[in-house]
Amino acid sequence: MFDLKRLVRPNILALKPYSSARDEFKGSEGVFLDANENPFGELNRYPDSYQTKLKEKLSDIKGVDSKNMFVGNGSDEIIDLLYRIFCNPGIDKALTFTPTFGMYQVAADINDTQLIKLPLNEEFHIDRTSLKPYLNDETLKLIFICSPNNPTGNCFNKADIEYILQNFKGIVIIDEAYADFSNNKSWVKSFQEFPNLIVAQTFSKAWGLAAARIGIAYAGYDIIQLLNNVKMPYNISALNEEAAIQALRNQENFENNKDIILEEKKKLISELEQLNVIKKIYPSDANFLLVEVEDANETYRNLVEQKVITRNRNSLVENSIRITVGKPEENEKLIKALLSISKS
Ligand SMILES: *Cc1c(COP(=O)(O)O)cnc(C)c1O
Repeated sequence: MFDLKRLVRPNILALKPYSSARDEFKGSEGVFLDANENPFGELNRYPDSYQTKLKEKLSDIKGVDSKNMFVGNGSDEIIDLLYRIFCNPGIDKALTFTPTFGMYQVAADINDTQLIKLPLNEEFHIDRTSLKPYLNDETLKLIFICSPNNPTGNCFNKADIEYILQNFKGIVIIDEAYADFSNNKSWVKSFQEFPNLIVAQTFSKAWGLAAARIGIAYAGYDIIQLLNNVKMPYNISALNEEAAIQALRNQENFENNKDIILEEKKKLISELEQLNVIKKIYPSDANFLLVEVEDANETYRNLVEQKVITRNRNSLVENSIRITVGKPEENEKLIKALLSISKS
């Protein structure tokens, strides 16, 4: 049986959350003299604490009820909130599979929580044997699964993720920042089957709104309520919520841009395959490619000199650089720069 209360920090379970003026009066009609706002101006009113309009729009698109959504100031806020809700500082632990997204570690460090890092296998997949001993540890509260994984680019096997969801009694977070670029099925509705699952998505990648800082968590209502209780009352600005709503209204633009990126990715792969500086291109379900070169530090520096900025991932995967798929002309510039390195 999944026991959410056992997992939550006692101070969070006992928390009396802040009650804003808008929590206490929810109507939209009237003269509003309750929140000490300035009566003049365009942006004079506090934003909706619960982003009702954005969630309604998203609900239509995702087929998930609004009450199963939490909007964070980027996925980064969601990751931090989960440590704060579940991990008693200095006592509890989290676990992830490396190499992976660096924020799981930074948020763990900020919250004084040990993050256990289990290496992925040669093909960058989850190794169940090394995971097994941890599954019954009562101080292990969170498992972060980044799929498609950053920086490796691949999705993890459905069977491995299901194994974790079924055998771990703590919280499992599947970070789907890149899921829109993948053909694999999203886990976004799977909290209905697995009450310990939280899926995180973001507007920062496929939706093209990294500047607006909008991340979404999909989970059972009890978990969503914990997130609502712990977040800052007005964590999403009205401007940013509106930007996300506008993006959702223009799904055609979203699909078109995604198609271009995926087409460019295919093209980039076939061009990179021709270059002798590129030793290996790892399989990718995302909008980036992890490639192996002879000397990543050297290649990275050389590309920077030619004003092409990639991400040197040498410290995570030996001699690798991560290349984001750009606009057609940007990708051409990358290929030209790599060609000049190949010749020299
Ligand atoms: C880019 C990225 C995010 C997005 O974070 P935001 O705070 O929503 O911008 C989340 N997870 C991973 C793995 C990423 O690579």
